[in-house]
Amino acid sequence: MKLICIGRNYVEHIAELGNEKPENIVFFLKPDTALLRNDEDFYFPDFSNEVHYECEIVVKIDKLGKSIPVNYAKDYYSEIALGLDMTLRDVQQKAKEKGLPWTLAKGFDYSAPISEFIPLKDIGEIQNIDFSLQKNGETVQRGNTNQMIHTVDEIISYVSRFMTLKKGDLIFTGTPKGVGKINIGDTLKGFISDKQMFCINIK
Ligand code: MG
Repeated sequence: MKLICIGRNYVEHIAELGNEKPENIVFFLKPDTALLRNDEDFYFPDFSNEVHYECEIVVKIDKLGKSIPVNYAKDYYSEIALGLDMTLRDVQQKAKEKGLPWTLAKGFDYSAPISEFIPLKDIGEIQNIDFSLQKNGETVQRGNTNQMIHTVDEIISYVSRFMTLKKGDLIFTGTPKGVGKINIGDTLKGFISDKQMFCINIK
């Protein structure tokens, strides 16, 4: 199973990191060992001084697909979750400067905390989902999937041209503005609409 993560998919997040709006969809992978489930504690890694949260809607792929046309992409998912794309911003910055891969900055163990999955039909339209993140009780990120530059269906179509999608693969669909640092002792709570999806303590 693979975790496919989309970068730079919300305009205001691109601006806050000073990045350029990409011509094509930007994606990278995390290994399945990145997953952290059931509200387990996140341990601050000893190989970074600057760990950022990025709260993202996650889509689970239901069946095998290759070169999926945009207008058929809807048939390939039925459940979503809320996740965090934990990022070692200092390690990533060095990699960017040198043109090196982001693998360590993005793919270290437990870099992908994730909630339970819920049926999309219980929530509504994939491109109109409110979600938010609280740090220590204060809302730090708030987004709606209608702000995505590339829709979920476009992402599935694009990525599946190059990489076969398999049942159980997860797509982290990008983060809205408001990313920031975590510290030991922080608590991160994620919400889809008003429903709390996860509560993770940083140890
Ligand atoms: Mg991200």
